Amino acid sequence: MSTQGTQSVDDLSRSFALTTKLDAIVAWGRRNSLWPLPYGTACCGIELMSVMGPKYDLARFGAEVVRFSPRQADLLLVAGTITEKMAPILVRIYEQMLEPKYVLSMGACASSGGFYRAYHVLQGCNQVIPVDVFVPGCPPTPEAVLDGVMTLQKMIKDGTPRPWRENWKSPYAQSNADSSLAPSPINVSNTGSQQIGRP
Ligand code: SF4
Repeated sequence: MSTQGTQSVDDLSRSFALTTKLDAIVAWGRRNSLWPLPYGTACCGIELMSVMGPKYDLARFGAEVVRFSPRQADLLLVAGTITEKMAPILVRIYEQMLEPKYVLSMGACASSGGFYRAYHVLQGCNQVIPVDVFVPGCPPTPEAVLDGVMTLQKMIKDGTPRPWRENWKSPYAQSNADSSLAPSPINVSNTGSQQIGRP
């Protein structure tokens, strides 16, 4: 191999090592500085408060900077029952959040409609937005929510593929363009997202 050829390989190897390291640093920063937007609609929202409180202290995981503006948040915490009327608002909030963004569905109601087998309740928020982690329980314990956050952190660290996110399309995109009433939400494929136990 010529000297020039050897130098090129060296340069390539240096740039490859730098890129890999940079990805790891970015993932480290992302997973330890999640800014959550709590979408609390029912009792799970109260349980979420204890996750933020001093006993369980979500700050230990770098996710205590709660934001109520989607422009300043990258983790949507869906905590509580989502009615059909709320669904377009939930989607709008998700659309306005920063990239890369993540969704954690907390509790049976947010994940599956819970015991509300009724026409007016969404049977899982994953029908309208892409959910990364489902946390079961009614309500889930604070430890379970922390476990969900840690699962998400591991996904960010490992760069886990998220086809449910990549293939997601707003179920209300057409209605927004037409300024007409929101149609019934469509199902979004969520195969492969992380589920801790069963909701
Ligand atoms: S899962 Fe249980 S605790 Fe959570 S919002 Fe539904 S009924 Fe309330």
